[in-house]
Amino acid sequence: MKLSDILTSATEPLISCEFFPPKTDKGEANLWKCLHELEAIHPAYISVTYGAGGSTQDRTKRIVCRIKEETGLSPVAHLTCVGANRDDLAALLDEYKHAGIENILALRGDPPEGMDHFEATVGGFEHATDLISFIHEQDGFSIGCATYPEGHPESKGGVADDIRYLKLKQDNGADAAVTQYFFDNDAFFKFYDAATKAGVTIPIIPGIMPITNFEQIVRFSAMCGAIVPAWLHKKMKPVQDNLDAVKKLGIELATKQCCELLDAGVPGLHFYTLNKSESTIAISRNL
Ligand SMILES: Cc1cc2nc3c(=O)[nH]c(=O)nc-3n(C[C@H](O)[C@H](O)[C@H](O)COP(=O)(O)OP(=O)(O)OC[C@H]3O[C@@H](n4cnc5c(N)ncnc54)[C@H](O)[C@@H]3O)c2cc1C
Repeated sequence: MKLSDILTSATEPLISCEFFPPKTDKGEANLWKCLHELEAIHPAYISVTYGAGGSTQDRTKRIVCRIKEETGLSPVAHLTCVGANRDDLAALLDEYKHAGIENILALRGDPPEGMDHFEATVGGFEHATDLISFIHEQDGFSIGCATYPEGHPESKGGVADDIRYLKLKQDNGADAAVTQYFFDNDAFFKFYDAATKAGVTIPIIPGIMPITNFEQIVRFSAMCGAIVPAWLHKKMKPVQDNLDAVKKLGIELATKQCCELLDAGVPGLHFYTLNKSESTIAISRNL
C-alpha cells in the first residue's frame, strides 16, 4: 500500500519501524526474527535504510522485496543520492516498480566513509529536493523525506533552513516527512508550528529512538546533530553501565515522550529500532 494512502486512510496514529540491512547471515536471521515479532504491534510500514555511500543497495533492495513477498507489512525503501547518477537511480526505481515496491524515502545521504563532506556524483543530485522531483516524475511512487526539528548539522541558517527545504520537498512531491530523532518534545512542537506557518501540510512523523545503549546514542547524536539534553545525561548517568537498566529506563522515557506527542495529535510515531524489537514492542504496548 502507498504511504500516502496509509496516512490518509488511518483513523488513529500509526506506528512504523526502521531497520538497517545487516552485514552478516546471523544479523539477517535476527532481522527476520525481529520483523516477525513486530508484526504483533501491526506497524503501518517498515522502512529499510540505504547504507552510507550507497553501500547496501543490493541488500536494501533484497530485504525490501522480501518484506513485500513474505510478510503482510508495507515496505518503504530508503534511497540516497550518494554514488549514483540519474541513470543508476532510474534503473533501481524501475526494479522497484517491477517488484511492486511503491514507497521510497528520498534522501541526500551522508558522505561515504573517509569523506568529510557530501559531493554530488557527476550526473546525479546535490540534494534530496532534486531526488524527490526525479522520483515524482517517474510516477507510481509515494515519497517520504527526512526533516530535522533540531536542525541538520550542515544547515547554515539553522532550523529555518530545514523548514524552507521541507516545504520545497513537499512542493517537489514528498507525501510525508519523518524526523531525525529528538528527546526534547518542545523542540519538535516549535518546529512543527513553524513548519505549519511556512505552509507545510504533509504529515510530519516524529522519529523516536528507544535508548538501549546510552554511550552509543551520545556518539550517534554528535554525528547527526540530535541534542542529548542535560536532563537525559543526569537520568542515565546512574545506570549507564548496566545495559538492562538502561533499556528499562529507555522504555520508560520513550513511553512518556510518545504519550506527550500523541496527546498533541501527531499522525504517527516512527521507531528507530536499530534491528531490535523488544523496546519498540514494550513502548507500543505501554501506549
Ligand atoms: C528519517 C531519516 C532516515 C534516514 N535514512 C538514511 C539512509 O537510509 N541512508 C543514509 O545514508 N542516510 C540516512 N539518513 C541521514 C541523511 O542522509 C543525512 O541526514 C544527510 O546528511 C541529509 O539527508 P537529507 O535527505 O536530509 O538531505 P537534504 O535535504 O539534501 O539536506 C542536506 C543539507 O542541505 C540543505 N539543503 C536541503 N535542500 C537544499 C537545497 N535545495 N538547496 C540548498 N541546500 C539544501 C539542508 O538544510 C541540509 O543542511 C536519514 C535521516 C533521517 C532523518
